[in-house]
Amino acid sequence: LPERIDDAKLPHIKFVNINIERKKKKMENVFSRTLLDKIEDRLKKKEGTIILQNRRGFSTQIYCEDCSEVETCDNCSVPMVYHINKNIIQCHYCGLVKDVPGACTNCGSLAIKYFGTGTERVEDELAYYFSSANITRVDSDSISRKAVLGKILIEFGKGDIDILVGTQMVSKGLDFSRVTLVGVIAAETTLWLPDFRADERTFQLLTQVSGRAGRSQVPGEVIIQTQNEKHFALQMVLKNDYYGFYNKELADRQKMGYPPFTRIALIETKDQSEKKARGAIYDFYNELKKFKKWLNISSPAYAVIARLKGNYRFHILIKSSKDDDPGGAVLRKAILDSFVEFNRKSRYKDVKLFYDIDPQSIM
Ligand SMILES: [Zn+2]
Ligand SMILES: [Zn+2]
Repeated sequence: LPERIDDAKLPHIKFVNINIERKKKKMENVFSRTLLDKIEDRLKKKEGTIILQNRRGFSTQIYCEDCSEVETCDNCSVPMVYHINKNIIQCHYCGLVKDVPGACTNCGSLAIKYFGTGTERVEDELAYYFSSANITRVDSDSISRKAVLGKILIEFGKGDIDILVGTQMVSKGLDFSRVTLVGVIAAETTLWLPDFRADERTFQLLTQVSGRAGRSQVPGEVIIQTQNEKHFALQMVLKNDYYGFYNKELADRQKMGYPPFTRIALIETKDQSEKKARGAIYDFYNELKKFKKWLNISSPAYAVIARLKGNYRFHILIKSSKDDDPGGAVLRKAILDSFVEFNRKSRYKDVKLFYDIDPQSIM
């Protein structure tokens, strides 16, 4: 196992299955009794606690029980997020802000429910259970400038702040020996994203935040709340097994034809008119498919986020084998030749068309 630079002991990691705990009536809202007890213990000992929930806002979905609609952004096909402090709902993709709806905007029903836990709700519940503790939230809503974060970290290091709660901002660069407990509200926030890097992101985030516990001679403790404790990425976090994770991840990537064994390219069309965005992607596809002998080309489809900032979006994913096309020359030629033909022939050539080789996100 890799040793830690500061020679500190590896943290003791434990999963708490929230489904089982709920059946045993050992859940208090978003917290397991186990995690609450550990936090209380640290408060008594004047040791620091970090709580991770990798979602901003209070509730991440507003749902109508009568018509089953989720309140979505006017410009994007994503749910609006409720922010309790500003008392607004906001789109995290385009920034649109609206008043909190008093009733369902689709059917007018008053039976609207708030689902999904964000950092504001975690902070709110912590303040309820530990009313005398000094709790500070760290996310891009509360931290506008780097200087503010620096000041908070100094206070936390000195012991003026008992509990830091936040998004992945709390997983990095917080090496304080007084932190002996890390709690993760839900391991799943990055796990089911429709992106082939979801497992890797989950493994990295949980490993990173776990490493914040016990950077001293006192071994730290990590409590990860989850509904998927058997998931491979989580098991590797538990064992702190970096090599085990990457061995299997690489085997899976090879089998599925994903990087680093292939080069991938994402083609995107976007337009305010759905018809034009779709027409453009199909016209481009008709040129691109002439290269099907050499490349693995997906059929055109809606992007995962089908509408963003008022534009409809369509995607094609291309995989190019590094054995057959080591330098990526075939891939680039296919895209550029198709683009030239598209521009010459398509009646949708005024539609915005992008390509991204080795994209960081395919959503
Ligand atoms: Zn939006
Ligand atoms: Zn409704």
